[in-house]
Amino acid sequence: MSPLNEALEMAANIIRAGNVVALTGAGVSTESGIPDFRSKGGLWERFDPYDYAHIASFRQNPERVWKMLAELRETLTGKQPNGAHTALARMEASGLLKGVITQNIDGLHQAGGSRRVVEFHGNGQTLSCLECRESVPREAVSDQMPPRCGQCGAILKPDVVFFGEEIPSQAIWGSEELLDNADAVLVCGTSAEVYPASQIPQVVKMRGGKIIECNLSPALNASIVDLRLLGKAGETLPALADLLGV
Ligand code: NAD
Repeated sequence: MSPLNEALEMAANIIRAGNVVALTGAGVSTESGIPDFRSKGGLWERFDPYDYAHIASFRQNPERVWKMLAELRETLTGKQPNGAHTALARMEASGLLKGVITQNIDGLHQAGGSRRVVEFHGNGQTLSCLECRESVPREAVSDQMPPRCGQCGAILKPDVVFFGEEIPSQAIWGSEELLDNADAVLVCGTSAEVYPASQIPQVVKMRGGKIIECNLSPALNASIVDLRLLGKAGETLPALADLLGV
């Protein structure tokens, strides 16, 4: 048996035995054509995410940040879920996965059939005014760039969590609820470098849970990883779902 097949068997046994939650990041969507922070040729090569996606940059120069946001919106438009998203949805539908905590803002888990999804970093479905707190659904915003608040005229910000911003309390509670009694976390397509989502594997490990890493190459600290399924998530996760018979 190949090392990957052996690891898949072990992962399937862990999943069958307890409460399992998935923590996902940009890597589960690269096979849908959305670049992660490390992909070559993507928009993040031209827009340094730690600069353009920092709340201080938005406050200082929202017009400049909106140039990146407009391109990001184009990048996300029309993208379809891949095998990684649908495999997690299959596991959830069969009762083997409690739900997904995602750092992604692309909505592809829901599009792939996942029902219980905590969007840790929000999504772009609504925009808010940082001046008067007005909240506007995306469809209600005109094509004007950058979009402005109908109440006070300030430039609107999409409700995605920028670096330097707090995680919405709804997302904190949602993920705590999922992680309560979690026996294992499937960490998929994330370098787990962005705080505080990066703490989730460590917290679960400290509570006695197991960590299964599904990344292209090892990204998590070896001291907390119990098992690695290395390879494309769009291949390893469907193989895992098949093995589980779901
Ligand atoms: P990251 O870019 O820091 O790390 C991505 C990880 O996924 C890397 O370890 C990479 O090796 C791995 N990876 C890439 N392609 C893979 C594949 N096909 N199969 C398995 N693994 C693969 O991403 P992050 O940890 O999610 O942190 C970046 C932040 O920016 C997060 O908030 C993230 O969600 C956000 N972001 C979101 C999107 C999106 O919504 N799709 C895209 C880019 C960045």
